[in-house]
Amino acid sequence: MADRQTTEVDVIAPSGALWGLSCVDGHAHAVDPGAEHPEMGYFARCGHRVLRRIALDELPQGSRCPAGVPGSTR
Ligand SMILES: [Zn+2]
Repeated sequence: MADRQTTEVDVIAPSGALWGLSCVDGHAHAVDPGAEHPEMGYFARCGHRVLRRIALDELPQGSRCPAGVPGSTR
């Protein structure tokens, strides 16, 4: 199990991740800026995709993705 688990994270993205607001569903998804992403967008940790032209932010804009934060039970 090499998965990094963060349990203290609620509002702030999981360590190293930034929030990208999807214009498709209006939720903020946690994106790993250092990970590999396809040309057209970012792969969020939750599995959703966010358009690359949106700005990634340290704080989620709007509501967070319901699938969103690993370790969050709320
Ligand atoms: Zn998502």
